[in-house]
Amino acid sequence: MSTFTIVPIRCGDIVNHARSCFLYRKDCGGAHLNAPCIAWLLRSDAHTVIVDAGPGSRARAPQCYTESDAGHDDLLQYGLARAGVEPDAIELVILTHLHHDHVGGARLFRNARFHVQEAELKEAVWPVPFQRPIYGTNQRGKTPPWIDVLDRMMVAHGDENVLPGIRVLKLPGHTAGSQGVLVDTDDGPYLIAGDLIPLYENWPAHGGEPVPNGNHTDLRAYDDSFRRIAALRAKVLPAHDPRVFECASYPPGQDPAVNP
Ligand SMILES: [Zn+2]
Repeated sequence: MSTFTIVPIRCGDIVNHARSCFLYRKDCGGAHLNAPCIAWLLRSDAHTVIVDAGPGSRARAPQCYTESDAGHDDLLQYGLARAGVEPDAIELVILTHLHHDHVGGARLFRNARFHVQEAELKEAVWPVPFQRPIYGTNQRGKTPPWIDVLDRMMVAHGDENVLPGIRVLKLPGHTAGSQGVLVDTDDGPYLIAGDLIPLYENWPAHGGEPVPNGNHTDLRAYDDSFRRIAALRAKVLPAHDPRVFECASYPPGQDPAVNP
């Protein structure tokens, strides 16, 4: 069986974001957070794969770079270099969905193909008006970031085994074509959930009630996706939780490149 280690790479922050935006109908007392945008580096003996690409370089997404990022023009590139990975060597990038903070960095991978659900690509082309800014679609004078890699996209029509040890699951709710990435590790399956589960709080341990992201398109689909996730019995990695970086890799402590 092919097993992977998973390394989170911080690609920038959604700065000073209202916590309640991630937690549907929860009163968070006005709390805000700097929510990291995360690319996930998956490595096995045979394959190196990226899941999500963050918001992109400082030039593309200056609003996601903070004072502490001074001196860095591309946090994704920096994170990959720290992990000893050359972007041109990446052959496959899986995109959980096409919101700009997940696909803005995609152009860094010049030799990769990009895996996305067909329903998501269709949605990105012409979303409802409220969702157009977050896809970067129909914004005067701007090109949506997913256009950069449209010539190399592969579309899926639901669940699919992508590689030995990596399976995508179509999990709509946050968007019409969101997908999760189920990754085999030496410590059992991990689910990279995308924005379906932005914080650990959205998916409470010990059987608590899950909470949808406040940014969603279909709550009934969301509920079905939550049921599917519960049945997986996988460990869940959220898309925007600073606590992800309490471990340099998952399963914790397995990646010698970042845990010398
Ligand atoms: Zn999103």
